[in-house]
Amino acid sequence: MSRLPSAGRVPSALRDDIPLARRTVSPALRRTGGFRRGLVAAALLLGGCAAGLIVFPQPLRRLLAPPPVQGLSARPGLDGRLLGHFPYGEATDADLVSIAPGLELHADAAEALVAMQEAARAEGIDLLVLSAFRSIASQKHIFFDVKSERNQSAQQRAQVSAPPGYSEHSTGYAVDLGDARRPATNLSVAFETTEAFAWLQTHANRFHFRLSFPVGNGQGVSYEPWHWRFEGSAEALKTFEPAQRLDR
Ligand SMILES: [Zn+2]
Repeated sequence: MSRLPSAGRVPSALRDDIPLARRTVSPALRRTGGFRRGLVAAALLLGGCAAGLIVFPQPLRRLLAPPPVQGLSARPGLDGRLLGHFPYGEATDADLVSIAPGLELHADAAEALVAMQEAARAEGIDLLVLSAFRSIASQKHIFFDVKSERNQSAQQRAQVSAPPGYSEHSTGYAVDLGDARRPATNLSVAFETTEAFAWLQTHANRFHFRLSFPVGNGQGVSYEPWHWRFEGSAEALKTFEPAQRLDR
């Protein structure tokens, strides 16, 4: 009487036909292998993130952090810009001096501005300061109040105004200039047709003032012929170095 192989026992002749891998790895072990691969992948991912944080700490932290401006869902890009604008700190009271009633500027910029206004006046040009230092709180009003007044999206608003914490005006180094003889061109692109603008284009450089947002600027902000920033001190240069790099 022939005997059937009992359950669980495979005759050696048959066993040799089964590939070694299937013979030696049980389903449970195979599951363990998948689990291990998952663990390795997770470890690699974590390691990659840790390495990223070490190599690019600031950009990655910014990307992982919550949106920096309350009321805006936009997040800064890898270079720190939010909707095109670089982040800027606020000038301290000790840095600021009054240049006209209600207008303050960083002392270094104020001195250069007064010299520039005098030089312009000597040539019959009346450079009027329309806006100078703006605190982050007042920039918040300008950004959000006007945004809702004009029913603009954050992107539309950022084309013409920086979000709070991202305005050059908060540094105390930026001014909006007008031509006192042509007030209708104040804060408009038409300012570029004034004698004041023509004078600034030729001479502002001598006083270390530079147009922040020329046509086609690297930050993608709308052309602002009236907005000039001071770059004539080590601190001011350092402040605007990232913006300069984009427009070199
Ligand atoms: Zn401005």
